[in-house]
Amino acid sequence: MVQILEFSLPLRMKMNFGLTFRAVKGLCMVKHSRQYSHGSIGLFVPPSPPVDPEKVKELQRFITLSKRLLVMTGAGISTESGIPDYRSEKVGLYARTDRRPIQHGDFVRSAPIRQRYWARNFVGWPRFSSHQPNPAHWALSNWERLGKLHWLVTQNVDALHTKAGSQRLTELHGSMHRVLCLHCGEQTARGVLQGRFEALNPTWSAEAQGLAPDGDVFLTEEQVQSFQVPSCARCGGPLKPDVVFFGDTVNPDKVNFVHRRVKEADSLLVVGSSLQVYSGYRFILTAREKKLPIAILNIGPTRSDALACLKLDSRCGELLPLIDPH
Ligand SMILES: [Zn+2]
Repeated sequence: MVQILEFSLPLRMKMNFGLTFRAVKGLCMVKHSRQYSHGSIGLFVPPSPPVDPEKVKELQRFITLSKRLLVMTGAGISTESGIPDYRSEKVGLYARTDRRPIQHGDFVRSAPIRQRYWARNFVGWPRFSSHQPNPAHWALSNWERLGKLHWLVTQNVDALHTKAGSQRLTELHGSMHRVLCLHCGEQTARGVLQGRFEALNPTWSAEAQGLAPDGDVFLTEEQVQSFQVPSCARCGGPLKPDVVFFGDTVNPDKVNFVHRRVKEADSLLVVGSSLQVYSGYRFILTAREKKLPIAILNIGPTRSDALACLKLDSRCGELLPLIDPH
């Protein structure tokens, strides 16, 4: 399961300090906002100790010894691209806000909930889709190109691994860049849907953007209720982002596929995940059964620290480029 918040929330963390202050708990965010420009890594990356050269050597040894490395990534790899995670102390969404993820069942059952979801998603899309890979994504893509990476599994739905060129990749929870019809299952590109939203809501669009020049979205009830949501062009069914919402489960075929990749691997590296969500954690259990060596790169504790032979509390984008994949 994955926690997909509507887009407006991360956007709220930008620039306008008055609004930002109202939107967050505690002073930490305000301090960070002043230290870094919006969208920079300082907003969403938890503080970490300086890189420990000895630990880097240990990770280098781990990677050098591995011939069939499986890497699993989570939200922590994308914070340096300006996308917040959920569980990090002080900077994660759960710590900063009262908003909680949309539930799969609510989305499927309720047209008004879908309407609200898509209205916010529509406004947030230009910014969300503009996020770029950071040095950690590029490093993993490079490892694949050099034959070091057996498989990459991500819990993220931001498509940043794809943007970095990774191909031996399973997006465990889907991708925000695709849209799925709940009736006929047709998959379409999210970018195309944006054009359909604009065509259906010409006036609405201008109004919402006028209200929110910095992407800070406060939609009124009237705005939400007047927002027109297109349906599947093929069958007329309701549309949903092709992601696993909270309360839904990952496709069993996909789970089995990843289990097989884990069983083929000779070591496992976790990058930027606290492994709190079972859909990712279960692959750690499989790796443990196979007695694979496990290394974890994550700022803050994870559910599997006790199972890891190596744990590093560093920024992914700072550390991974230091590793020679040969
Ligand atoms: Zn359809």
